[in-house]
Amino acid sequence: MDLKNLTISQAHELLTAGKISAVELVSKYLAQIDSKNKELNAFLSVRAEKALVEAKEADKKIKDNKASYLTGIPLTIKDNILVKDEICTAGSKILENYKAAYNATVVERLGREGAVILGKTNLDEFAMGSSTENSAYGPTKNPHDVSRVPGGSSGGSAAAVAAEMCLGALGTDTGGSIRQPAGFCGVVGLKPTYGAVSRFGAVALGSSLDQIGPLAKTVKDAALIFDAICGHDPLDSTTVPNHTRNQNRIDELNIGDLKIGLPQEYFEAEGINKDIKEKVLSAVKWFEAQGAKIKEIKLPHTEYALAAYYIIQPAECSANLARYDGVRYGPRSEAENLMDVYTKTRGQYLGAETQRRVMVGTYTLSSGYYDAYYAQAQKVRALIRNDFEKAFEEVDVIMTPTSPTVAFKIGDKSNNPLEMYAADIFTVTANLSGICGLSIPCGQVDNLPVGLQILGPWFGENLLFKVGEYYENYKT
Ligand code: GLN
Repeated sequence: MDLKNLTISQAHELLTAGKISAVELVSKYLAQIDSKNKELNAFLSVRAEKALVEAKEADKKIKDNKASYLTGIPLTIKDNILVKDEICTAGSKILENYKAAYNATVVERLGREGAVILGKTNLDEFAMGSSTENSAYGPTKNPHDVSRVPGGSSGGSAAAVAAEMCLGALGTDTGGSIRQPAGFCGVVGLKPTYGAVSRFGAVALGSSLDQIGPLAKTVKDAALIFDAICGHDPLDSTTVPNHTRNQNRIDELNIGDLKIGLPQEYFEAEGINKDIKEKVLSAVKWFEAQGAKIKEIKLPHTEYALAAYYIIQPAECSANLARYDGVRYGPRSEAENLMDVYTKTRGQYLGAETQRRVMVGTYTLSSGYYDAYYAQAQKVRALIRNDFEKAFEEVDVIMTPTSPTVAFKIGDKSNNPLEMYAADIFTVTANLSGICGLSIPCGQVDNLPVGLQILGPWFGENLLFKVGEYYENYKT
């Protein structure tokens, strides 16, 4: 079987037609991990035995005619999402031996569908970064060119999908961490609307920004995973119940009715590679040729988005990471008194970028600076949200590049945090405003994948899937 072109939907058909068993399918992916992971470092842990047990159970379900779309499908989970009894490092030395006592809601839901979990994938420490170079366990390599980063922070998940080491994956997106690696690795990634997917059992980073979402080879596959994990969860009070399953999205899209917004601010942004701009615009032109209406729109507060994000995110991170103090979790550095235990442990076991964010966040939240930084950033956040509210009165979706550049070389930006932060310019706005965003491949520049970002209104995931699937199925 050719794993290169296999999708979840095709594997589902093969499984239910009895052409392959889940055990055979999972074994193929385990073999693929065996042969490729040494070079790519996409997986931090592989649960081969348990995966085969789950595959056997899936085969039974299939035989009993109880299979759903994900039954027997090999998936992977970013290592900041809890899988019961597995180590969950969050890419940090401070959680090196932390074993999860329970499943995240998303993992529980995938389990109920009969999906098979192959292992846990690499990430920037606590999901802070855009390259996976901040992982305490070494960088993941981009399968398209191993001298380059796969993006981040869900770089392991994106590389695993791109290198056929799984059929789909979960990532988390706080400022672009699903969409940007999806773009860099040439796969599909969805950041759901804030509140669409339960965050229970995800290692919290920026609690007002974080969402869990799928990465997969096709839009349809990403939609199948999203359908399984979305919806209200009593264990996450920010979730809402307004999603319905919809397996026939493509049939319903009337392309002539689609209004696509093009925000000038994104296409004229500083540092955008002009070939990427061309690629994305040619995808937009293709939609126009099919009958969609294109409209230039304004998102005037875009230029303040990165600054606001890099105040709010570190502030929330500094609060969330206070629990890794050498007392409640993980290793402890010996010291004379409690204060020294805290500082020594955190100094020894947290990486440089994590320490930087904790310090920035603590500073901007401290009395005297709170109003000047944190409160101000929250006002900017409200303005960015208003920009989108107005835009979505005029258009159905907004198209932009996912990132201003293609995947960069390992080491190129790791000593320059500001340059690294600039890579997030097109993705942070969706998190600040809470809207949903999908990245789909739209060609290559310099033989490296380019991502087209499609932004949709709050809880507009089904529309994003329809538009994405339309492009995927009809663009030749
Ligand atoms: N690259 C962004 C950051 O470093 C986004 C991270 C994320 O989405 N988890 O904060």
